[in-house]
Amino acid sequence: MNLHSLTAHALMDLYKSGKASPKEAYEDVLNRIKAVEPKVKAYVRLVSQQPDYSGEFQIPIAVKDILCVKGEEITCASHILKGFHPPYDAGIIEKIKKSGGTILGIANMDEFAFGSSCESSCYGPSYNPWDLACVPGGSSGGSAAAVAALEATWALGSDTGGSIRQPASFCGIVGLKPTYGRVSRYGLIAFASSLDQVGPLTRDVRDCALLMNIISGYDERDSTSVNRPVPDYTKALVNDVKGLKIGIPKEAFADGLDAEVRRSLENAVDLLKKLGGVVHEVSLPHTPYAVATYYIVATAEASSNLARFDGVRYGLRARPAGLRKNALVDMYEETRAKGFGDEAKRRIMLGTYVLSSGYYDAYYLRAQKVRTLIKNDLDEVFKKCDVILTPTCPTVAFKVGEKISDPLSMYLSDIYTIPANLAGIPSISIPCGFSKSGLPIGLQLMGKAFDEEMLLRISYTYEQNTQWHLKKPNL
Ligand code: GLN
Repeated sequence: MNLHSLTAHALMDLYKSGKASPKEAYEDVLNRIKAVEPKVKAYVRLVSQQPDYSGEFQIPIAVKDILCVKGEEITCASHILKGFHPPYDAGIIEKIKKSGGTILGIANMDEFAFGSSCESSCYGPSYNPWDLACVPGGSSGGSAAAVAALEATWALGSDTGGSIRQPASFCGIVGLKPTYGRVSRYGLIAFASSLDQVGPLTRDVRDCALLMNIISGYDERDSTSVNRPVPDYTKALVNDVKGLKIGIPKEAFADGLDAEVRRSLENAVDLLKKLGGVVHEVSLPHTPYAVATYYIVATAEASSNLARFDGVRYGLRARPAGLRKNALVDMYEETRAKGFGDEAKRRIMLGTYVLSSGYYDAYYLRAQKVRTLIKNDLDEVFKKCDVILTPTCPTVAFKVGEKISDPLSMYLSDIYTIPANLAGIPSISIPCGFSKSGLPIGLQLMGKAFDEEMLLRISYTYEQNTQWHLKKPNL
């Protein structure tokens, strides 16, 4: 039996009936990794710890190289963190371990989660399992590629501007960015603290609900974690959308949207209508400013968060400080010059600039105001709609190398995913079709804060009435 190709819930059923054991599942996935990893390069390293085969959810999982796992080398795919072994587990890694999860390996990503293609990793790119000439998306590209290539049953990623949903869309799987505060960020290496959330990447919507059950909940060590009860997300898996109100923003279907993506989305909307969903055309007038707003807020916060990587406390030190005049500053400068890649340097410079006195009001303060306008637009639509539906991405996966020297066009691939981070609301990407070239297409739903259940319900209904999530890449 191909245990590596099953969902977590299918594995759980086999465990219960005694038809397969967690050990068999783990070993089968390891064999799969051996077979396809040289082509996909989803992982930066495999974990040496042996699974202990106890706990309820003994599911093999891939963890993005941004979450602290005690004893493992965790680097955010950056030279500057080489050799960093966190002395503690992230809040959600504790939960994964307690639930019985087996960490298979640390998944590749864009350096410090800056990117949409997984190409800015210091380990080199990961590849899209549907077409190895294409990127898997980013920044959680390794996590998404591992799940799609059947090298992990499910995975954890982080999403600051789309980094779970965009790779999920490019790799034909399900990815959820939970509400800001729903999942603990304790032990998540910070990119932009007002936007970051951790979330699941899975093969179907039921697995997404199961993984949300495991990772959600209050953590006093994360001051932005919200103390409210966690529902059983699997209860939201109801195959029924009758009467549910789905808002379609007219701005989302403007120019720049790939024709094949548009067609798949239109078909998905028709199906939801047929199933009883009520579709409203809505408007989000400030969303055209979302990308600009995000790249001010996110780079500002990143420049401040990355100041701590100075060669003293973590990872790389370019040379000993010594006792010469300026020796300490020279050490900082050399460490940072050698340790950070091009995109990280670009973001630190942009972020420092928008925060500098004289420019702060013109850029950072103004971006914060526009952020509120974008959130107000969404609040207004949620007065009459249960969810908002858009494409996850304007295109399917692009070729490796295609956008790496054109940061602006790379940034524009986040146009649909960014508003949910700016507003702190939950958002999911699910498979909704394929291009003629055989690349997956993703549909995005955004919901009200803490209404992950509505996203899961509509996604589940759509999935139950389609076959996209069952297709597997030919590797
Ligand atoms: N692609 C976006 C960026 O480059 C989002 C990244 C993310 O969500 N971590 O910032």
